[in-house]
Amino acid sequence: PPEIQDIDLLHIVHVTAELAPIAKVGGLGDVVTGLGRACLSRGHKVDIMLPFYECIQKQNINELELVTTYTSYHDGNWVPTNAYRGIVSGIAVIFIEPSNHFFKGESVYGGSYNELEAYLFFSRACLEWMQITGKEPDIIHVHEWQTGVVPLLYWDMYHYLSLQKPRIVLTIHNMEHYGECSQEQLSKCGLDGSLYGTVDKAVDDRTIGHNPERLSLLKGGIVYSNAVVTVSPTYLTETLCSGWLTRTLMQNREKYIGILNGIDTTIWNPATDAFLPTNYDAQKVGGRVPLIVCITRLVAQKGLHLIRHAIKLVEQLGGQMIILGKASNTQVEREFEDLANSHNKDSDIRILLMYSEELSHMLYAAADMVLVPSIYEPCGLAQMIGMRYGAVPVVRKTGGLADTVFDLDDHSQPEMANGFVFEGIDEESLDGALHRAFSYYKEKPNDWNRTVQNVMKIDNSWNNTAGKYIDVYNSIRVK
Ligand code: ADP
Repeated sequence: PPEIQDIDLLHIVHVTAELAPIAKVGGLGDVVTGLGRACLSRGHKVDIMLPFYECIQKQNINELELVTTYTSYHDGNWVPTNAYRGIVSGIAVIFIEPSNHFFKGESVYGGSYNELEAYLFFSRACLEWMQITGKEPDIIHVHEWQTGVVPLLYWDMYHYLSLQKPRIVLTIHNMEHYGECSQEQLSKCGLDGSLYGTVDKAVDDRTIGHNPERLSLLKGGIVYSNAVVTVSPTYLTETLCSGWLTRTLMQNREKYIGILNGIDTTIWNPATDAFLPTNYDAQKVGGRVPLIVCITRLVAQKGLHLIRHAIKLVEQLGGQMIILGKASNTQVEREFEDLANSHNKDSDIRILLMYSEELSHMLYAAADMVLVPSIYEPCGLAQMIGMRYGAVPVVRKTGGLADTVFDLDDHSQPEMANGFVFEGIDEESLDGALHRAFSYYKEKPNDWNRTVQNVMKIDNSWNNTAGKYIDVYNSIRVK
């Protein structure tokens, strides 16, 4: 469709478990903020609804005020709830704060409350808030399993109450999070869980004989949303070919599309980034010894054995490496702690086991190469941010990595070539790519510098892809 969509303005409400920078764990937080800001700048009205996690630093929210005191249903009770409004990165955010123990604790995930129940509560509390305040956006945009019940609640409950106008978009950022849920648990948000245990509704397709007792909020969200988006064209194809949701996605093929994520190039801009001691642009010159960084959640998806192998290899090749990562499982944490203890004192390797927004900016800026050896990667932001900061990507060819990084030694499309790509999940495949990257760095410094300048100019911003989301919104909105 032509660009008329931005004359025809929309009201979009995101319902999300993460929001950068105040409640970010991984890419989901970046995407909601980046897409939200891109739509705002095109003239649309955007609000974001987020749980008021206890760990959110209130000083990072502007103009925070209590706007609504109401009750929302959970498990037989109406829970007194506050809705606050504030501004984060220029976007209006509604914070939902229940008076019970949900969302308390030191981090976004992993508190001592039942996460499934807390997000079921949050999902309903968002619709309840729209109903009592009379806010009817054109689009309710939900993300991941945490808010996958919103479309069920909308079409089977709130649409029969007072909400008429909204249509629903679900973005799947990572299909490996199912949102497992029993019928009884689903009933806690006020729906009759026993009505959803069929293959055409919310039954988890992985269960033997399609056990009607076992539901998946992500699956239900796919069935009940008006449009379903995943975060790169290659991941779309991969998920239609294999995986637990293939059958459901094939059945919903006409409303399922792949849109590559962007990065927010105002937040991620080496020329203005306040976290950097010195700002720079595409004129940066590389150091003598290449520095390779890997900034990631330390989970199996990210290729942990390949990250460990890269440490050895970089040492052998005489480079430097910094890993900034947070593990969510104690076994992985211990393994990397052991690696940190043996390397951090007297080698060119540093393993930093923490989450730090500030350090991540400085590391992307300092890096010559950014390593993303994921086993699967729906989209991946680290390679895009790395390139924006002048780091040449070394990645495994999967999902969104395959849509954004093209090998410098593949001469079939030289104008796209921007990094080093390997295919296998074995250590030798990574060896090949890293060896090639190191030789290129050492033997062809002029070519390397040209590549650095090229990757910094690649436009992976939301300006490029937000329009595709607007097209999806317009294709389902009620005129
Ligand atoms: P995922 O969503 O699977 O975590 P993405 O590549 O889409 O992966 O997004 C990861 C985002 O989280 C990037 O912005 C990356 O810089 C950031 N990130 C990951 N780990 C850390 C960390 N330990 N400290 C700071 N930022 C991190």
